[in-house]
Amino acid sequence: MAAPGVRPVPVPTKETQPYWDGCKRHELRVQQCAACGHHQFYPRLYCTACMSDRVEWVTTSGRATVLSYTIVYRPVTQAFAGDVPYVVALVTLAEGPQMMTNIVGCEPEKVHIGMPVQVTFDDWTEDIAIPKFKPV
Ligand SMILES: [Zn+2]
Repeated sequence: MAAPGVRPVPVPTKETQPYWDGCKRHELRVQQCAACGHHQFYPRLYCTACMSDRVEWVTTSGRATVLSYTIVYRPVTQAFAGDVPYVVALVTLAEGPQMMTNIVGCEPEKVHIGMPVQVTFDDWTEDIAIPKFKPV
């Protein structure tokens, strides 16, 4: 757990390391099932559509659509106090999976459901880049 006022930097695990390696290269990766083609995020040991264990990492197009969002005016920790107001959103990737993210690169009030967005990366450390989305 990060100390108050310090950003909680994600710690990769064996299962998530390929995802973070992709982010570091500014590539958004999800898993795809080699048996049925299903894309999934977050990473799992098995395909959630057919239970095959033949899941592989693929790089997405980085395109997505805003499914839902909220504007945060009161930071959850002091680590994000300098960022308010900011947008927390659920986006649907062009490949199908949904992910929680931030919308950046526009005024929070301009964000809307159905808005087309494109991934962008915020380099937090030498090894951790956080995927966020900006208007197309
Ligand atoms: Zn499958």
